[in-house]
Amino acid sequence: MAYAVLVDTKKCMACRGCQVACKDWNRLPAGATKFRGSYTNPPTLEAHTWNHLIFSETDQGRWLFANYACMHCTDAACVNVCPAGAVQRTKNGTVWPDPDKCIGCGLCVQHCPFHVPHLSKTTNKMGKCTGCAERTSQGLRPACVTTCPNGALQYGERNALLQQAKERVQSLREQGFAQANIYGENEMHGLGRIYILTERPAAYGLPENPCYSASAWIWQLARRPLGKLASVGLFSGLVVGFLRWRGDRIQHKGDNTM
Ligand code: SF4
Ligand code: SF4
Ligand code: SF4
Repeated sequence: MAYAVLVDTKKCMACRGCQVACKDWNRLPAGATKFRGSYTNPPTLEAHTWNHLIFSETDQGRWLFANYACMHCTDAACVNVCPAGAVQRTKNGTVWPDPDKCIGCGLCVQHCPFHVPHLSKTTNKMGKCTGCAERTSQGLRPACVTTCPNGALQYGERNALLQQAKERVQSLREQGFAQANIYGENEMHGLGRIYILTERPAAYGLPENPCYSASAWIWQLARRPLGKLASVGLFSGLVVGFLRWRGDRIQHKGDNTM
């Protein structure tokens, strides 16, 4: 059964308790920060910062807050491109990184559509949210969810949370938030982090249409035993096609000069 985190951005009050709880529970070191003109701090996730709060201001001067961490994608680019099997999707839908297997190649960093994984400069291992698997396997909620004082983060069975999100969006629309929508229901075949938004995803710094890059597809294909055959087939097809095209060109030249 798939589990997920539901982020109700309308309930978030930007206390950053989730950001601190993640550091605290996972014993992640603090880093020196400085003000860069945005309250989002640090500005991106890092190998030792697995969760942060994105602050955005609308044209109407309204603040939007979004807790941001690994989306635990159903179709996870990081899982599919990792050549060392160092990122695995568990039965409950968590995309779990195994630092012991990580070889520091950086392919997951390059291909994640959400810019989540980062390589540590000291260990050369990838770091990202683990879904607090050591807690959820014991019946506990993730540390960030447990800490949230306003119920903006919830953890539970994904289908039940989706139903809850739909009812909440309906209620928000009735309250005048005409743009209220759900993010994460279908993106990357379903995310393990579902958002209730009152504006378009881009207004929160979320990619509108996250997708694989072409190079991720090719790499994924090349990694699979059958894919290798397909890759060889594709390459052969391209070579044959090129030779045919070249042959046709020579033929046409020949026709024109006759
Ligand atoms: S689930 Fe755990 S590891 Fe992931 S962001 Fe929340 S506290 Fe951090
Ligand atoms: S958000 Fe990125 S790191 Fe997280 S599961 Fe999806 S592809 Fe992997
Ligand atoms: S702990 Fe809850 S209310 Fe506080 S910033 Fe995080 S999501 Fe928002």
